[in-house]
Amino acid sequence: MKITGSQTFILRVPIDREIADSMRAVSSVEFVGLRVETDAGIVGTGYTITVGAGGSVIKNVLDSLLTPQLIGRDPHLVREIWHDLYYGPAHWIGRAGATTMAQSAVDIALWDLIAKAANQPLWRILGGSTSQPVPIYNTHAGWLNFSIEDLRAEASRLLDQGYTALKMKVGGADIREDQRRVAAVRKAIGDSVLLMVDANQKWDPLAGRTAAGLLQDSNLTWLEEPLHPDDVAGHAQLRQQSRIPIALGEHLYSTHAFRDFITRQAVDVVQVDVCRIGGITPWLEVAALANAHGLRVCPHCGDLMQVHQHLVRAIANRWYLEVIPLWETGPFQHQIRLQDGVCLTPREPGASTDFTARAFEQFRVN
Ligand code: MG
Repeated sequence: MKITGSQTFILRVPIDREIADSMRAVSSVEFVGLRVETDAGIVGTGYTITVGAGGSVIKNVLDSLLTPQLIGRDPHLVREIWHDLYYGPAHWIGRAGATTMAQSAVDIALWDLIAKAANQPLWRILGGSTSQPVPIYNTHAGWLNFSIEDLRAEASRLLDQGYTALKMKVGGADIREDQRRVAAVRKAIGDSVLLMVDANQKWDPLAGRTAAGLLQDSNLTWLEEPLHPDDVAGHAQLRQQSRIPIALGEHLYSTHAFRDFITRQAVDVVQVDVCRIGGITPWLEVAALANAHGLRVCPHCGDLMQVHQHLVRAIANRWYLEVIPLWETGPFQHQIRLQDGVCLTPREPGASTDFTARAFEQFRVN
């Protein structure tokens, strides 16, 4: 099988309800990606996601620096291609951010091709198993723009749907208001439901230490991204001071960055994101690195879990899968299927990355 061409795209899809965390409000999601064509007639799809802006920068990297290098190559040589793209012209202008997100989209498309060529779902190509259910937690329970009443109502609705783990946002203007909101949700859901909180990088080390102290009686499963995402020393120190475990990784762009957080004991739960780390190829390396250090992987929902639902089935150290159901009907041909607090096994060939023709008609902006 040889690659004969590719088409890049941006789909901007409005979400059903505006959401906010400590960094931003979000009303649409941009899928920036590509369809890779082959002489076998099989088409692979890969994408990365932005929160409504910046997609044209990533698409430019795809068009000008990455996709020209794919022509004539066999997608089965995916690791060699990853290496060549990484050390190609994009290396000079960035090893994090837009260039790595673009490389993520390419790598996902190649793995999608490999799985489709074998007529198997990706998790089977990766040697995965379905003997254990994949539990999910829902982040839609607790956005920062929700009132305490909204938080209670949303939590109650999700518990009725079978969820046993929820996440809410913190990092509002006042740490004591965060404390009140978290305590209200904890009281509403009872002690048996897992509750995580996410500060989205809001705090400096002193504020992080204060918050960890104020929140420590709410029986939290983890405190996510309390500090700047590159602050290894700060997270290592906070982890020593906090009784709440620390989760992070959605803004790390290399295996080396994860190596530093892990070996300096700055993280408890590893949240590597396949749409940021450079694709499936390095994602698997980070998961193995975490496993060697006895750490669990709960991937960040940066792909809306279409790809991660395959990947977690192929690793020993998976824990919860994050889900953020943004639409009643999403733009994918094979939308992730959730039921009674677990993610059902995808059966279609490939990485579940294909969009519907209708999504392309409605939402394509580039
Ligand atoms: Mg997060």
